[in-house]
Amino acid sequence: RSMSSVSIPPPECMLRPLEVPLRYLFGPGPSNVPPRVLAAGGRPIIGHLQPEMYEIMSDIKKGIQYAFQTENNMTISVSGSGHAAMECAVFNVVEPGESVLITVNGIWGERVAEIAERMGANVHRLLKAPGEYYTNKEIEQAIEKHKPVLFFLAHGESSAGLCHPVDGFGDICRKHNCLFLVDTVASLGAAPIFMDKQKIDILYTGSQKALNAPPGTAPISFNDRACNKMFNRKTKPVSYFFDMTHLSNYWGCDGSPTRAYHHTGPVSGFFALRESLAILAERGLEESWRKHKEVAAYLYKGLEDLGLKLFIPDKVRQLKIGLKELRLPSVTTISIPEGYDWREMLTYIMKNHHMEMTGGLGPSVGMVMRIGLMGYNCEKTNADKALHALADALKNCKKSKP
Ligand code: PMP
Repeated sequence: RSMSSVSIPPPECMLRPLEVPLRYLFGPGPSNVPPRVLAAGGRPIIGHLQPEMYEIMSDIKKGIQYAFQTENNMTISVSGSGHAAMECAVFNVVEPGESVLITVNGIWGERVAEIAERMGANVHRLLKAPGEYYTNKEIEQAIEKHKPVLFFLAHGESSAGLCHPVDGFGDICRKHNCLFLVDTVASLGAAPIFMDKQKIDILYTGSQKALNAPPGTAPISFNDRACNKMFNRKTKPVSYFFDMTHLSNYWGCDGSPTRAYHHTGPVSGFFALRESLAILAERGLEESWRKHKEVAAYLYKGLEDLGLKLFIPDKVRQLKIGLKELRLPSVTTISIPEGYDWREMLTYIMKNHHMEMTGGLGPSVGMVMRIGLMGYNCEKTNADKALHALADALKNCKKSKP
């Protein structure tokens, strides 16, 4: 037998056509992708370093600036999912040994804490039960104590269904020379966020939630304070791929007349992202926020009518901020009803209704079930479908059956 002969045959599965079921994606993401965005992603590929592509990237940058409500020049989309943006933020602004303060009231803070620990930061966690929130006073005291260079908050804590108030934290961070990093992967387009007005130094999101693009691109923006820190480092960031000195050049944000090859961007992903940002721009942020709020309120009422209990209390009074809504309109968490196995309910709903809902994540596993109605999926008719499926599961999955 010659060295060049093939000894591993073509796999059987590869000789069968691809099958992808049609499903209602009513979990915390990915969400269903509208035909217009799917079609954009299906357009012919062009080279990633061609002027037409630069123009599309420039459009994406403007679309993100609108969605984030920022004028930051350093606004790009990271090639990767939400986690890529998390690593990009932390790797670029933090150096080994520096102090970082992270709110952990669900899984996302814990993930950022682990990312920061892996690159050698001195991580301080502000630990709370899933769905609990932090007062401005608590944050200020922790910042005074730990003197962090970076403070992290998840705006949309999707594992708990919490939409955390942001007002005031930016001022506290500025006063103490700390950068304010906010995760809006699950909330962008669904709940108001104003990067510049709320003095957020670094903001990121993902493509696959309320933006309704396929997973795989992650918008991120850095203001001048963040740029000042990340471009005056003593050490190089631990990651070559996420190094903003390279990414800012690739995205035409560094003032240089030429762009050097760094990596091959996800061309189809950028087409789809551009289309989803275009839909948001056409619709308008305010209308998108209003719609999410309206449909979420309709869903809450329907859930309560089914006898289900929402995991997050609807409103709390925060010192100096007034009455604040705490529920995340894009992802609703329900306490698991007594006498039911949540896994069985979710399997039942998938099998009989072709609908994806999920359980908790990280610390909220076993505490909640999660329903997401985001962007394109955010319609009362879809809330009705989800409620119908839940009612059916409640009828058929009771543990103490006779
Ligand atoms: N942050 C939040 C709030 C999220 O909901 C998610 C996705 N569930 C992520 C970060 C991570 O994003 P990805 O799964 O795209 O890496």
